[in-house]
Amino acid sequence: MKNPAILSLLLLFGVSACAQNGKSNLTKSASPAIDVEKVVKTEDEWKQVLTKDQYYVLRQQGTEPAFTGKYHDHKGKGVYVCAACGNQLFASETKFRSGTGWPSFYQPISEAQVGTETDRSYGMVRTEVHCAKCGGHLGHIFNDGPQPTGLRYCINSISLDFKGDQ
Ligand code: FE
Repeated sequence: MKNPAILSLLLLFGVSACAQNGKSNLTKSASPAIDVEKVVKTEDEWKQVLTKDQYYVLRQQGTEPAFTGKYHDHKGKGVYVCAACGNQLFASETKFRSGTGWPSFYQPISEAQVGTETDRSYGMVRTEVHCAKCGGHLGHIFNDGPQPTGLRYCINSISLDFKGDQ
């Protein structure tokens, strides 16, 4: 590149393009050692099987507006699975009323079903939680949940499907 001004412009464009990518602020941290069977699709394939709103949350780390999802006040007995791949994520027995407007759980069905990453977006440091099978974004984990774990898995309804007990 002979022209430094053009090089600078290209670099600037590259950085701003990265900053718009929802994943750019995520860094890997420790995840459970047990591997579950992975579901791998291209982004085009995900766009074909997910709705636009599901794609925004599950694949672009979006967040649904509080109190708009179908499960924040849902009280059925059963299992919440990943809306993208069907992976079993949370049991209804671990769901609690958080008042946040998002379905909240104090633990996953097993640590192997979910993965976590450090999320530094929006000037905050949060723990992102995703489906271990397909990588779909579920929500975030906070330390203000009830016992026995003290954790609050704050999950987007749109990332979940509910399978009621028969
Ligand atoms: Fe999944």
